[in-house]
Amino acid sequence: MRQVLAGLTVVAASLCFGGLQLWAKDKAPAKGPDEDGTKPALVKIAGEGFLNSHAFQYLTELSDDVGGRVTGTPAERKAEEWGAAKMKAMGLENVHTEKYTIWRGWTRGTAEAEILSPVRHKLHVDAMGWTGSTPAGGAEGEVVTVNFFDVENELKNIARLKGKVALVVQKGKPSSNFMTLFAKFSDFLKAAGPAGVVAIVGGQGGGKSSGMNLTHTGILGFDADFSVPVVSMTAEDQGQLERFLDRGMTPRVRFNVQNTFSNGPVETANVVGEIRGREHPEEILVVGGHLDSWDLAEGTTDNGSGIATTLGAAEAIARSGQRPRRTIRFVLFTGEEQGLDGSFAYMKQHQSEMANHLGDLVLDAGQGPVKGFQLGGRDDLVPVFQPFVDSLANLRPLQLDDKVESGTDTLPFSIAGLPGINMNQDTSDYKYTHHSAADALEAQKPDVLTSNATLMALAAYWIADRPERFASPWPAERTAKMLRKQNEYEELKAFNLWPFGDLGAEEKDKAPEN
Ligand SMILES: [Zn+2]
Repeated sequence: MRQVLAGLTVVAASLCFGGLQLWAKDKAPAKGPDEDGTKPALVKIAGEGFLNSHAFQYLTELSDDVGGRVTGTPAERKAEEWGAAKMKAMGLENVHTEKYTIWRGWTRGTAEAEILSPVRHKLHVDAMGWTGSTPAGGAEGEVVTVNFFDVENELKNIARLKGKVALVVQKGKPSSNFMTLFAKFSDFLKAAGPAGVVAIVGGQGGGKSSGMNLTHTGILGFDADFSVPVVSMTAEDQGQLERFLDRGMTPRVRFNVQNTFSNGPVETANVVGEIRGREHPEEILVVGGHLDSWDLAEGTTDNGSGIATTLGAAEAIARSGQRPRRTIRFVLFTGEEQGLDGSFAYMKQHQSEMANHLGDLVLDAGQGPVKGFQLGGRDDLVPVFQPFVDSLANLRPLQLDDKVESGTDTLPFSIAGLPGINMNQDTSDYKYTHHSAADALEAQKPDVLTSNATLMALAAYWIADRPERFASPWPAERTAKMLRKQNEYEELKAFNLWPFGDLGAEEKDKAPEN
């Protein structure tokens, strides 16, 4: 999911540490593992995590034996069965799947392209997820640029693109903020099929595909599908087309793109297993990553690494024989790549127990070492979490902030006023591997995975076991204010995910009443 939102530029979120001073005045300092009694258990868990880990073995199986696993496909179903079997084998309790449906299924077919003039050679493309097909046998057309920064006018003039290939570029100044442009881009793509556009080169929204000779697939919105074929083209091929256009030439290109949609909704399921709490089993910390992936390779770094981290963390705790005060619920989400569908489905299915949740802890930024924790909007928890981070100082320097991560399964928890905690990673290669043909086991270093899994185990156990409850949901108004302050409003509104109406808005920003 990160592809769509982060691939194109992202709104900077502001950190708010206002809570720090407040806390200093009102409360005794929060205790860390050295003072709160959790240390002996954490030492045992760290031993299991570092010296007895199977995380890389899990990642190898998921990558090589299951492979790419797009939500709702037989490969993804196989991944669910695999995940549940691993959870059972390591002794997790209450292992089961939680079925839900996504609006429509999609299967990639073939994607071929060729430039016919002014030169002739093959072009390297792959279809974006949940986009359509050319007529059987393909279609050709002249290449015309479409300016993402002026997409509103492009939509008005879409009739000029009939029978053409649209190449999306970014020229001049953006006509409005990024998220508004993105929402309009979605309207443009919706209209393009009926308007007779042959194909759209625009998987990167006018940017270029990262890496040498790589394409990056992905979905172009939350639960969004389009009848027009939209492709990601390698930077090298796209660059050549743009240079011809800049010289006033009109390249002619042939596409043959074939994908299939299901006729209706398709079934998928989150995979769930628990370590039940010894004192407050009804209070729950969710820990997870996403099991679904794209299909140009094995889905190792996005997000096999998160699944192997989660299973490695679960195993370290289970084998340590330590039982936390509260329940740790491990969830392998599906549907993440289509719009965080698995975690939104989880919130719906568990609505009645949401008041008992402590938050969720997620790793979904690829193969790199964890470099910090982002507490998903909860500035009040920064001073509470700090002593835990300090206790790991000899292991790794770790940053801590209250940033909301909206590109993965942390977001639904942040919207619910709970800490959707993102394990932030130092992940410079991820821009090449994620959603691309390079997303294979070669990208993950086993030692990094092992230590990430151990860190996840330690954080999960500490949160669930510390004597005081870590977090309870914030009321809606406080959550709405926080999301606005962290610049999430525009994105959530653009994608119809903003549930708060005017709540939390400054008087002057409120919509006029009718
Ligand atoms: Zn991901």
